[in-house]
Amino acid sequence: MARYTGPDCKLCRREAMKLYIKGDRCYSEKCAFTRRPYPPGQHGQGRIKLSEYAIRLREKQKVRRIYGVLESQFRGYYQSAAGRKGRTGELMLSLLERRLDNLVYRFGFAGSRSDARQLLRHGHVKVNGKRVDVPSFVAKVGDKIELVDKAQKFKRVEAGSAGADRRPILSWLEVDREKFLGTIKGNPVREELNEPLIDEQLVVEYYSR
Ligand code: SF4
Repeated sequence: MARYTGPDCKLCRREAMKLYIKGDRCYSEKCAFTRRPYPPGQHGQGRIKLSEYAIRLREKQKVRRIYGVLESQFRGYYQSAAGRKGRTGELMLSLLERRLDNLVYRFGFAGSRSDARQLLRHGHVKVNGKRVDVPSFVAKVGDKIELVDKAQKFKRVEAGSAGADRRPILSWLEVDREKFLGTIKGNPVREELNEPLIDEQLVVEYYSR
């Protein structure tokens, strides 16, 4: 499966905000954006006025990078949302939030979405009692997601779990950290998805131009 393998912190600096891609490190003094809060490259500290198009493009890139999704798949989420009744931007975010890698991260079973993807690919996650190794699997309300026994003792899982308390609490998810069991109680609540800040309407405008 194709994926981005470049430096994650450069992405935060490019988008001029913390995207919280690297788990615990993002909350520490080692965060590259805290140390160098300007875009990478020779002209990173220059002032550039962005065009309307560039503002939308940057927002699209930002959301895509937060969730760690490549362009073709990300566009697919937009198209799928646009074909449904309701607010396209919110529907798109709902699909992204219900991706299995995101849920494993949100439940605190992994320190970052990329850690979550690794756990998934190695077959350490079950959905409703069955192993699922596809990070892009979209779960639905009522699904139960758990880590297999062996993975619960992994050091990086312990670290990820410890760092989860620093993240926002989401009312639509319920988790039993002792059992490593999470349940989706309802649809994602848009107002709770503001770390980092997202303007999904700009993403919709980017694709519908
Ligand atoms: Fe790197 Fe995380 Fe800081 Fe972004 S927020 S620059 S990924 S440490």
